Amino acid sequence: ARQFTRPLNDLANQWNTLLSAIAGAERVFEVMDEDEEAADESGVQPIDQVTGKVSFSHVYFSYENNGDTLEDISFTAEPGEMIALVGPTGAGKTTLIQLLSRFYEHDRGTIAIDDRDITAIRRDSLRSYMAFVLQDSFLFQGTIRDNIAFGRLDASDAEIEEAARLANAHSFIMRLPHGYDQILGLGGDGISQGQKQLLAIARAMLANPAILVLDEATSSIDTVTELKIQEGLQRLMKGRTSFVIAHRLNTIRQADKILVLKEGRLIEQGNHTALLEQGGFYSELYYGHFQEQDEENGG
Ligand code: ADP
Repeated sequence: ARQFTRPLNDLANQWNTLLSAIAGAERVFEVMDEDEEAADESGVQPIDQVTGKVSFSHVYFSYENNGDTLEDISFTAEPGEMIALVGPTGAGKTTLIQLLSRFYEHDRGTIAIDDRDITAIRRDSLRSYMAFVLQDSFLFQGTIRDNIAFGRLDASDAEIEEAARLANAHSFIMRLPHGYDQILGLGGDGISQGQKQLLAIARAMLANPAILVLDEATSSIDTVTELKIQEGLQRLMKGRTSFVIAHRLNTIRQADKILVLKEGRLIEQGNHTALLEQGGFYSELYYGHFQEQDEENGG
């Protein structure tokens, strides 16, 4: 498989390095755009408006020619649906997301957004309809304001603040000595893990994408911040198609569709109730692991 740009796992590091090395986010986009132009096939058009329908049809992918990492993946996400990706480590959850965002190119089958084959959509255009809230979201050396504005470079201060309010980030920002002008160190140095996530949510809110990709945090965050994050995420996901690499049962239960991956295959799909009734791998996962979380949360 051909790799055009860097995989998500490396993004945070790569971007931080890049961003600290050169001044201003706009320059970064120029650099990336040049990259994109070179990588995109000629004649590929941008798309103007998307509702966020996503479909995979018999998609296959391998990183090298050593067996399929993803095999015969088919599903549809309707506009606004929340899709939870579940399965053991190495099952292919991250890879699926990387194909959707064209960080990697699938080998066979079709991936479509709004029924348009994504290989016929320019990469920069495709990504302008997506936002990522990852465990290690790329924060760069610069003010809080600039870090949020990275979601949409032409945003006004009022729009930035509105996004921060919706994301539940405004109150912690206002408690910083310099508020929105507070300068963050490399990788968001100077604020907590949870606060970094609130900023990532604010940035995604400002970007206002039709499609969201979330990698749910596994590290422990204090309860108060965690609640803020959950609430911010709820607001962010509303009306958008979201793909969540989910680790928390609460999230998974809320999903319109759970995609259960195992060894590169999509072995089950459906909502929580349907999958439990099915009595397959998901119900094994649930009774073997998630149910404890459920009981801790009071059922
Ligand atoms: P998950 O997100 O479910 O943990 P991944 O999509 O990260 O799974 O990985 C699926 C499989 O692909 C694993 O076997 C993993 O080792 C392999 N893999 C992931 N990234 C790469 C890569 N860049 N090159 C080669 N193999 C990879």
